[in-house]
Amino acid sequence: MVSGGLCQFRSRLVPYKPTRDNGMQIIKSYFLIVVALSLIACQAENAADSSGASRVEQQTFKWKLVTTWPKNFPGLGVAPENFAALVERMSSGRLMIKVYSAGEIVPALEVFSAVSSGTAEIGHGAAYYWKGKIPAAPLFTSVPFGLNAQEMNGWLHYGGGLALWRELYAPFNLIPMAAGNTGIQMGGWYNKELRTIDDFKGLRMRIPGLGGEVFTRAGGTAVNLPGGEIYTSMQTGVIDAAEWVAPYNDLAFGFQNVAQYYYYPGWQEPGPSIELIINQQAYDSLPDDLTAIVETAARAINQDMLDEYTSRNNTALLELAKQGVEIRPYPDEIIAVLRQISAEVLAENAARDPMFDKIYRSYDAYRKNVTAYHEISEHAYFKIRQTSSDIVGHD
Ligand code: CA
Repeated sequence: MVSGGLCQFRSRLVPYKPTRDNGMQIIKSYFLIVVALSLIACQAENAADSSGASRVEQQTFKWKLVTTWPKNFPGLGVAPENFAALVERMSSGRLMIKVYSAGEIVPALEVFSAVSSGTAEIGHGAAYYWKGKIPAAPLFTSVPFGLNAQEMNGWLHYGGGLALWRELYAPFNLIPMAAGNTGIQMGGWYNKELRTIDDFKGLRMRIPGLGGEVFTRAGGTAVNLPGGEIYTSMQTGVIDAAEWVAPYNDLAFGFQNVAQYYYYPGWQEPGPSIELIINQQAYDSLPDDLTAIVETAARAINQDMLDEYTSRNNTALLELAKQGVEIRPYPDEIIAVLRQISAEVLAENAARDPMFDKIYRSYDAYRKNVTAYHEISEHAYFKIRQTSSDIVGHD
């Protein structure tokens, strides 16, 4: 550090005026640069001495981030890597986050417990995986026939949803935030054609959350598996059908090699939110500027993931069609039954669990309002926009 004596030199400085062919001026200018650099160092030293703020800013944090996704899996697995890189850059390396994929520290479906207990400071996954612990958690991923991605983000950030989510997770020592959305998903992969609701009878399908409850009520058996186990389970006949995400991700897992029919739309997940969960003590240990960086980076990857899926699903769908996948709409009859069962399942969950009831009231009120407006905006626009497709059939 520069001595105080040089710091006091600043009052005698005069502005530098260049003069051609004057060697002394070169020496003087060199001297002035040295003095200027010294002054910058002096100011930093003085600031640290007077407020102590700079000492806080020098504190660094190293966090472990556990995820429910395979390493660098497109979209879902890349998002936490992007988050960590963004936080590191925004904080100039004061908060370093190392990302661990499913199974590296804990299995996919133990991410919640690991972050709750402090084994890891932060996690990335989906709330509906914790349905067994918290009946209301799936409301923060997706609701069958519920909000789409745009609406879900609206409810969370401007409709009271995020405050309810934090209230729900507070007893578990966790702070949740939205950190990704896939947009509307596909209905799923089957190895037989679907004509009536009776075709679900006897089917074992990977379909988590509330959609899984509806599927079971409709005659099938819902299985909750992390993404990395779906392909082998389909291949070995442990399950007969599976929903995962949408063309971009489903192509990456190669489901077209283990199933023939690809049904749409994803009634079970019309706009699933992906979550970051942060251990309460870890969050509280951060200075205010770092918590702002964490929250801002989460909002950034929340939007970025949706942008990526929006852009890449359509090209992946073309590839799946090229590989001979049969892309079909769910028959109207099946959708009508699923819609009816979904309403029953939601009402029963609300009757059983007070927090489910409280959160669903907020969600449902928001859905009614936003639907009324979207009827004359988004929906009306989609209807008038001319479309054509030589890939998929329409009812
Ligand atoms: Ca899904």
